[in-house]
Amino acid sequence: MIADHAGAAGAVTATACSGCGARLVDTGGPPTLHDGCSPACGRLFDAVLEREYADPEYFVVHGLTVSSWRLQHPAGASARSTAVHLARLCLDAEGARPERLVAVVQSVSERFRHDPAPPLTPPVDRSVITIADVAAATTAIEHRALVRAWAGAVWATRTADHPTVRSWLARQRGG
Ligand SMILES: [Zn+2]
Repeated sequence: MIADHAGAAGAVTATACSGCGARLVDTGGPPTLHDGCSPACGRLFDAVLEREYADPEYFVVHGLTVSSWRLQHPAGASARSTAVHLARLCLDAEGARPERLVAVVQSVSERFRHDPAPPLTPPVDRSVITIADVAAATTAIEHRALVRAWAGAVWATRTADHPTVRSWLARQRGG
């Protein structure tokens, strides 16, 4: 986590994000377009995405970054998008190959295009890892490791949904 940085006059304080709980100092900047997060958290997410778009070595885990952040900031999310994000985290936790991950995520997305996704259970606890930890990475290797750990931690907060998500994936495997 990024530590609180008190200004010389003590006027700068960190505020907790309403979504993920990360305590971040808002240093200002353009307004974030994301819902359900603190301005600082939204801008940090955008900065991490920029880094991934700029470097293929970072981009490898882009899907996990988006899914992890979105699940921690569910305001306004559709049941379908939540289902897709959970499927992605489940597959990564199970060590799925990237090609399979893409295929299955597309399959889950298609499935819930018309069929309503079943009700899911909001997590009781927050993940101990947030975008603040990921943003601190200084190399692509470190970035990928942190994003994977983040995805695993977010997945671990959704234990009530694990059987449901695994049932979608089992169905996909079967045909
Ligand atoms: Zn946040």
